[in-house]
Amino acid sequence: MNPYSPAFGALRTALFSVHKMRRSLGMLPRKRTVVLNYHSVRPSRLFFNSTSTQVFEQHLEWLATHCEVVDFIDVCAPATAKPRVAIVFDDGFRDNLEYAVPLLQKYGLKATFFVSTGFLQRDPVILDIFARTFQTTAEDFMDAAALRELFASGMPIGAHTHSHRNLLGLSAQEQKEELGRSKEILENLLGCPIRSVAYPFGVPGKAFDLTTTEIAEKLGYTKGVMVCWRAVRPQEAVMRIPRFTVVNENLVELEAIVAGALDPIGQYQDWRFSMRQTYREKKSHALAFALLGQQWLVELTNHKIVCMI
Ligand SMILES: [Zn+2]
Repeated sequence: MNPYSPAFGALRTALFSVHKMRRSLGMLPRKRTVVLNYHSVRPSRLFFNSTSTQVFEQHLEWLATHCEVVDFIDVCAPATAKPRVAIVFDDGFRDNLEYAVPLLQKYGLKATFFVSTGFLQRDPVILDIFARTFQTTAEDFMDAAALRELFASGMPIGAHTHSHRNLLGLSAQEQKEELGRSKEILENLLGCPIRSVAYPFGVPGKAFDLTTTEIAEKLGYTKGVMVCWRAVRPQEAVMRIPRFTVVNENLVELEAIVAGALDPIGQYQDWRFSMRQTYREKKSHALAFALLGQQWLVELTNHKIVCMI
């Protein structure tokens, strides 16, 4: 599913409409935990995934008022009366320090920043891949001094591999190098253990798989985060924590995301991932479909329960 396609846009619009209906009927669930994933925050020269400073401040004001904003590392604790939200950033854009951190501080909030160390070290090959795809320059990313400043401001740091390649296309040994090298570089730079990792591109089964999560765990990571559009469940697999990509959503859309309007998309991503895993392990389409049906029923039951509380 391409998140930038017109079909996907239409699906989002339809799901947001359902949210408005549920909202008007007072049917919004409160006991939910979600992770919101930003990339770049800046006032001008926006990239495809940049949030404008104006929209980011609106988001923070709304989140500070209506949600309990928690550190990503605590995201698996049970939800309270308010929705729990963890804010995270990927890649290591310099504008995170210039614009996002002052706004987070203004509202007394924290975010976790997942940084690719290849950008940090100004690796020309890695910078060039991003430059060709996203028109970025080396100056768009934090260097070591900027990252230290961000860390000193009290913001937790996580790894985002070294060269930001799709881990699924790499051998187990290459994945180990990507995940291990970035951890080591960040630990040496900041003088603290790095426990969390965000898999680049993040979609389960498309950007990483269970081999990746096993390697990450063996390297000492205790939390891994993916791109899967649904809430964090009470018994979530800690190396596959879901999160929503957020760019310039208005406040109704932000509320809809927090309240679960887009969760069917995340459930579909889960099913597809477990289907692929099952087929890979059992080589049986019939068994994969049977498990898919079983999981679907469990999801439906959970959804009904969540709607009631
Ligand atoms: Zn990334």
